[in-house]
Amino acid sequence: MRRVYLDHSATTPVRPEVLEAMLPFLKEEAFGNPSTIYSYGREAKKALDEAREKVAGLIGARPEEIVFTSGGTEADNLALIGTAAANERKGRHIITSSIEHHAVLHTAQYLMRQGFKVTFLPVTPEGLVRVEDVEEAITDETILISVMHVNNEVGTIQPIKEIGHLARERGIVFHTDAVQSVGKIPVNVDELNVDLLSASAHKIYGPKGVGCLYIRKGTKITPILHGGGQERKRRAGTENMPGIVGFGRAAELARQELPQEMPRLKALRDRLIKGILERIEDVQVNGDLEKRVATNANFSFRYVEGESLLLSLDMKGICASSGSACTSGSLDPSHVLLAMGIPHEVAHGSVRMTLGRGNTEADIDYVLEVMPEIVARLRAMSPLYNKK
Ligand SMILES: *Cc1c(COP(=O)(O)O)cnc(C)c1O
Repeated sequence: MRRVYLDHSATTPVRPEVLEAMLPFLKEEAFGNPSTIYSYGREAKKALDEAREKVAGLIGARPEEIVFTSGGTEADNLALIGTAAANERKGRHIITSSIEHHAVLHTAQYLMRQGFKVTFLPVTPEGLVRVEDVEEAITDETILISVMHVNNEVGTIQPIKEIGHLARERGIVFHTDAVQSVGKIPVNVDELNVDLLSASAHKIYGPKGVGCLYIRKGTKITPILHGGGQERKRRAGTENMPGIVGFGRAAELARQELPQEMPRLKALRDRLIKGILERIEDVQVNGDLEKRVATNANFSFRYVEGESLLLSLDMKGICASSGSACTSGSLDPSHVLLAMGIPHEVAHGSVRMTLGRGNTEADIDYVLEVMPEIVARLRAMSPLYNKK
């Protein structure tokens, strides 16, 4: 059966070039521990340094400012917990937004249980944090602001540069979760005025289980993993060599291809949105249409259960998501859509489609062909729709 993968915000396939770069580090030929001094170790160290340069290059950082982690989640944990621990004598207030990924949201909640005060900023109906709200929330106790660059559910691009400017003026550490922006839009740590930035390999066609935290030179952070002196004593543990080398190659390719991929994917995404709105009634697109990455389309279909829609799409080989990966098995609608003020019943009918390298115009046309029938069939079974 035909398969159309439209969930690139959940994960992406490893590119063949990335796999090829990784393979030697899974074999006997390049198994060395980069902390050792003999030839195998030196070869590993060289590959580690090269990967670090490539990842740094993608975000405009210096290689020594990159700390490799086990992924975006660990990078977010290190950013929040590490900053909180390093600054708790200065103050115990943290500002974040209500639309963060759970890796930030749940870490912030953990810090609340440890006695920190956290402000969760609201967003506009378009899914954007207001800079004025950040400014108003700052107190003398504020030690950290963490606002994501691109939202994983609705694709909105937050005003990071402006928030960063504010944070710098007040001497507050500023972190951004850039897992969904790196590789999708140009990201430069200096232009964005950030001190800390999280990224993940598997969202940019690299392997799962590897990511990084960018730590601006001079930013104090207390490690959360204790052990050896790896990563300049900022993250203990023998390096995930195959993963890191794969991340480096993926970063290098993302940087090269971004200028061509961005407009191509935007055209496909716009074709999808336009086609859905033309063919199906009672549909809304969630999230700002301008301040948005090229890869994201998020729809709410009235009188339809998002989960039923996903199952029907899956039967047609189409892979999409209902917003956040529903790992908890709960049927609560997405916290992001609710924070945008979208009513429960509308949020329940939401489907996120996120495009990527493998998608073609034919994929989009296939979705547009099957979607109207599916929605019509589900609505025919809905008592609410029939009463409408
Ligand atoms: C995927 C994702 C993460 C988590 O990254 P992992 O590498 O899967 O741990 C964090 N933040 C955002 C915005 C994400 O999309």
